[in-house]
Amino acid sequence: MIEPTIYELSQPGRKGVAFPESDVPAYDLPAGFAREALKLPELSEQDVVRHFTHLSQLNYSIDGGFYPLGSCTMKYNPKINEEMARLPGLANTHPLQPIETVQGNLYIMYQLQEWLQEISGLNRVCLSPAAGAQGELVGALIIKKYHEINNAPLRTKILIPDSAHGTNPATSAMSGFKVVSLPSDARGNVDLEALKAECDETLAGLMLTNPNTLGLFDENVLEVIQLVHEAGGLVYGDGANLNALLGVVRPGDLGFDIMHFNLHKTFSTPHGGGGPGSGPVGVSEALAEFLPSPVVTIIEKGDEETPPFFGFYTPQHTIGRMKAFYGHFGMHIRAYTYIAMHGPAGLLDIAQKAVLNANYLMAQIKEDYTLAYDRTCMHEFVVEGAWEDIPDIHALDISKRLMDYGYHPPTNYFPLIVHEALMIEPTETESKQTLDAFAKAMKAIAKEAREDPDLLQTAPHNTPIRRCDEVKAARDLVLCCWIPE
Ligand SMILES: *Cc1c(COP(=O)(O)O)cnc(C)c1O
Repeated sequence: MIEPTIYELSQPGRKGVAFPESDVPAYDLPAGFAREALKLPELSEQDVVRHFTHLSQLNYSIDGGFYPLGSCTMKYNPKINEEMARLPGLANTHPLQPIETVQGNLYIMYQLQEWLQEISGLNRVCLSPAAGAQGELVGALIIKKYHEINNAPLRTKILIPDSAHGTNPATSAMSGFKVVSLPSDARGNVDLEALKAECDETLAGLMLTNPNTLGLFDENVLEVIQLVHEAGGLVYGDGANLNALLGVVRPGDLGFDIMHFNLHKTFSTPHGGGGPGSGPVGVSEALAEFLPSPVVTIIEKGDEETPPFFGFYTPQHTIGRMKAFYGHFGMHIRAYTYIAMHGPAGLLDIAQKAVLNANYLMAQIKEDYTLAYDRTCMHEFVVEGAWEDIPDIHALDISKRLMDYGYHPPTNYFPLIVHEALMIEPTETESKQTLDAFAKAMKAIAKEAREDPDLLQTAPHNTPIRRCDEVKAARDLVLCCWIPE
């Protein structure tokens, strides 16, 4: 328990600041301006530092421990990214400055666009979308506008496999599309027969999370894309987690028309705690003129003596502006740094190690937990957090118990198509020692579930806050411990 006393450290007369002797006469504040009831705590500087340091230690973080939260790619965020984003020449620029004074910023953005194009095999990238879900919204709006311009107003249906990320149906529906869910087949791929049955003249497009939320690469991806294209639809790729694909396969080469990237997953910009994220969108040649504005471009090519001059470009059929100014520039700097530091060989190494780590961990964990789909996985995998012989133990109990072992729990109850799902993503930045220790904890919990189930059901035991009512915590959120009298 957090002791309530940590919020009651105030002592009358204690001060954290020493004001210099006043060299002007003192005046009483006019009546009514100072609130008598405002009880500000009286604390020393050390009291305050200890209070906030202590609070910061109550948070679980990737800098503090292993964080296998599936789908979220909680990889280590290299500190050099932060150093670069804080360089005064970058951090102190203002979005309303004349472009001739921010050519360095525009160069970074332009180069990042180029790199994302090269990584994805798509033709044009716009950096402004705020996060993955907004990138999807951009994609859905592009699909809509594309069909409008091509005189196909009856194309109002978007297909979404049931193994997709939850934001896919949400953003499609927000864009005014009718969302049709496609089942997965026995191997966790899109069911091709179900897809064929939906390929008609009302088809606007398909959104495919690949690897899907089961951590599986769709074995029929080429056929899926071909079927949609033949029916006149576009294919959106949810590229939030490119960890498994970097340098191995390019979605554009597979035939995807649009895709978003999560800089705050694959490219190690920080996330969690409410953001900001960054969700650039890439498109094929045919859709380049639909991107949101602005896109960074070269206005004057330059030559051996003069560098190119960068500026902004508004695509001809643009769906409009999605974000104030140019998106989250600080995230662009971090992702630029990350890609520059790794280079092509380093990015490929990331993908290979992300897949290796996930399969290594999966091989150990599947000895005690049922694998939803027993196939080689990509950057993550999903197990069932339940056993038939202990019906009272649920995925949630396992996750809560993991907290006692010092780990952040995996993603729970997602994807929805797996019973009591636990979705585990180790990422490439974890060592063999960490993976082995986590597997050991998972095994120990499987044993406890049989020998002492109560230990799981009442977990966590060692955390500052024990098991809370999650519905109440979300509905009646109290962020302030000081309650005015
Ligand atoms: C995280 C994620 C998203 C949403 O990204 P946000 O930046 O959280 O909006 C979409 N799709 C997949 C597969 C994801 O993992």
